[in-house]
Amino acid sequence: MTERKVRVRFAPSPTGPLHIGGVRTALYNYLFAKQHGGDFIFRIEDTDSTRFVPGAEEYIIESFNWLGIKFDEGVSFGGNHGPYRQSERRDIYREYVKILLDNDKAYIAFDTPEELDAKRTEIENFQYDAKTRGMMRNSLTMSKDDVDSLITADTPYVVRFKIEPGRDVVVDDLIRGEVTINSSILDDKVLYKSADDLPTYHLANIVDDHLMEVTHVIRGEEWLPSAPLHVLLYEAFGWADTMPRFAHLPLLLKPIGNGKLSKRDGDKLGFPVFPLEWHDPKTGAISSGYREKGYLPQAVINFLALLGWNPGNDQEMMTLDEMVQFFDLSKCSKNGAKFDYVKAAWFNHQYLIQQPDSAWIPAFDAVLKEAGIEATAEQEAEVVRMMKLKVIEYVDGLGNKKKRNISFASDLWPLTKFFFVAPTEFDCEDKFIKKNWKETTADEMKQMLAVIKTIEDFSVESQKAAIDPWTESTGIKPWNAWRVALVGAGQGPDMYELAAFLGKEEVIKRMEFAIQTLG
Ligand code: GLU
Repeated sequence: MTERKVRVRFAPSPTGPLHIGGVRTALYNYLFAKQHGGDFIFRIEDTDSTRFVPGAEEYIIESFNWLGIKFDEGVSFGGNHGPYRQSERRDIYREYVKILLDNDKAYIAFDTPEELDAKRTEIENFQYDAKTRGMMRNSLTMSKDDVDSLITADTPYVVRFKIEPGRDVVVDDLIRGEVTINSSILDDKVLYKSADDLPTYHLANIVDDHLMEVTHVIRGEEWLPSAPLHVLLYEAFGWADTMPRFAHLPLLLKPIGNGKLSKRDGDKLGFPVFPLEWHDPKTGAISSGYREKGYLPQAVINFLALLGWNPGNDQEMMTLDEMVQFFDLSKCSKNGAKFDYVKAAWFNHQYLIQQPDSAWIPAFDAVLKEAGIEATAEQEAEVVRMMKLKVIEYVDGLGNKKKRNISFASDLWPLTKFFFVAPTEFDCEDKFIKKNWKETTADEMKQMLAVIKTIEDFSVESQKAAIDPWTESTGIKPWNAWRVALVGAGQGPDMYELAAFLGKEEVIKRMEFAIQTLG
């Protein structure tokens, strides 16, 4: 067999927002494709019209756009194997349904839902298969004339896969090894419904993977039960030679307790399970997203990459390129991966502090808007510049080296509020205030105020030129008390820089207020 170019696909159904587990599946497909110089295809599996949700497709595209996961072809990306939306491929599927019927690999069935229900009541554990198909209304039990006349009369029917019982079906999985099941436990799956002239997931999925020359099917563990059926379909079409290799990824598990990660876990513990905020078009309900929570896309990607795989050393922080280099499908875990959302915040912290100042500004801007603060772009840039150095590691007013855990841009607000909002009260129990505002302080601040009032332009340099000589001649060390007055606490940047940012008028106002209030 000749080497085929690696081609993988991500094939979501547009039934709602993309779950974070789906993002991981797409990421692993992407890493695998790039590692092998292959193609990554984006296909929309929308053959179940009853579950279609408007906006879901756009949401999925926007999510990958934000995350920086790029497709080579597919819906909205173009390519030579289109159309990539299954609802636009009806003619193709019809042709392949006919091939199965002509080759006696499938049959037409007319049983109504009521008839099927009746059978289920009559026979315990009823399954439509080799044992029972002989007692049902289908093209195997009816004459060709009867079948033809029902079809001519537009009677709804389905096409079912005729599964031969008693065969061991082997799914050769790159993560799980050989998984064998006996075909007798499978039912004659519906492959096509005349009512909407559409195939079901199974048929469309196999036909498309074949026609799109997919070489590897990397998907969530929840699809493993479908895999034996898919193997049999490849055989029925005579495509066994080019059947894709399978890899079923481990489940994402609840952070606490047992079972699959659900939206409820996220709601309860306060983390999103969707990449972007989702507005449900039917109920209007809003579900939170990683983007809106202030996560950086690189952090989300890095966090997800390590849920079910690791590079085999201690390295946790990885660029996308490094992931492409190290990724190894055969080293993916078979066991479910606990969704450690605390770790997600840790990753965000790591990426946040690595960023250049400019990257903080949009996030900070959103934080200010949320707080109802109007600031100019220059002011925002100034605060980010001043705070960046202080935010991560700083020395508090008592001389202690401290580290602040900024995981999200929103954590910046309590640390930057004083730039925009003057103190309105002072916490007399605060150690910094207690230590630095003494009996004589109000008087010293009054002296300083007099010096400040003489300064014309309030730049750092002019302040220095006026205040430094005053502190030298009087021996007064005003810095910590001045910080109490301007910030209201033992935090913040260099005092001259802060004062320059606030401006003369505001500095005077805040000092007068402190003198009055603290006495
Ligand atoms: N449409 C399926 C989904 O929603 C695709 C499963 C597969 O990758 O075969 O995940």
